[in-house]
Amino acid sequence: MLNNKKTLLSGITSTGKVTLANYIGAIKNIVALQNEYNTYVFIADLHALTLPIEPKVLEENRKNIYALLMACGVDTTKTTLFFQSDVMEHGLMNWLILTQTTIGELSRMTQFKDKSQKVRSSNGMETIPTGLLMYPTLMVGDILLYNADIIPVGIDQKQHVELTRNIVQRLNNKYKTDFKTPEPFIPKVGAKIMSLTEPTKKMSKSDINPKSSIYLLDDPNEAYKKIIKAVTDSEGKIYLSDEKPGIKNLLTIHSVLKNEDILKTESYFKNKNYGELKEEVAILVKNFLIDIQAKYKITINQVDQESKMGAQKARIIANQNLTKLMKGIGLNNESK
Ligand code: ATP
Ligand code: MG
Repeated sequence: MLNNKKTLLSGITSTGKVTLANYIGAIKNIVALQNEYNTYVFIADLHALTLPIEPKVLEENRKNIYALLMACGVDTTKTTLFFQSDVMEHGLMNWLILTQTTIGELSRMTQFKDKSQKVRSSNGMETIPTGLLMYPTLMVGDILLYNADIIPVGIDQKQHVELTRNIVQRLNNKYKTDFKTPEPFIPKVGAKIMSLTEPTKKMSKSDINPKSSIYLLDDPNEAYKKIIKAVTDSEGKIYLSDEKPGIKNLLTIHSVLKNEDILKTESYFKNKNYGELKEEVAILVKNFLIDIQAKYKITINQVDQESKMGAQKARIIANQNLTKLMKGIGLNNESK
């Protein structure tokens, strides 16, 4: 795009149903920043293959996520919104990046350690999918294809953006390319929304316990109940502290959904009890879901048409950046 705006890139993996944590950690910020940046947002359906997934489930997830992003306010007249697998360049770029990394570097990634731990059997590495190790190289490739300046993410993805920064510098030195070094954009409040049942763990769309997460497509009354049942602590006093992850989580959700400063939220609840806090958060969440789901009923019918247009726009930029790296590496005979 020919303008002076910087570029923003973000992706949501189609591993499961979009959660309130995905909204707070990433989607809300994309929506807020899409006027200011050339914005590219994709459904990371290739990333969703890192762990086994049923074709029918994947098909459904990717479509739902596309429609939900639109329902949350991602505006396709401002943002190029597309499916990762519609842009073939992601696959080739992944290979080029992969050849610039080491197994040591990739196996040190916290997310690889966490997720591989869960699937590791007594057979050692036999049950760990290779895709789990390669996940970050695919992500580095995603960022380079759009030569992005900022990446809105939750704290869990910070390390992968740091890896991208290292690889960009490596490529630019080695191949004299001019890729930009991306910055993570991490919200001050809400960078790590916690599980409702185990508040020391992050809320994840791939969590096997559906009570741990609020899904944007949850029945609003069920979501209300999940908040009412959220695990807290036995102290009975409401204040912000890392020692009180359940209470901090509820205060955070309240503050973000109300667009209110978290300290103001804390002082509002200071003399109230846990039941009152849960009730207010549960109502906010319920109303938020009712609003999103009403919009989703419309956007779900727009996915096929919008995604075709999104892919067309994305391919142009992706191809330019891929070609740039290929030339640098020596894979293209045209003069540099
Ligand atoms: P999965 O369990 O499959 O990894 P996920 O819930 O982590 O799913 P992703 O698609 O990996 O979702 O991430 C989408 C965006 O949501 C990323 O920017 C990520 O940093 C952000 N995000 C994920 N979990 C949280 C969380 N608990 N709090 C805040 N942001 C989050
Ligand atoms: Mg994740």
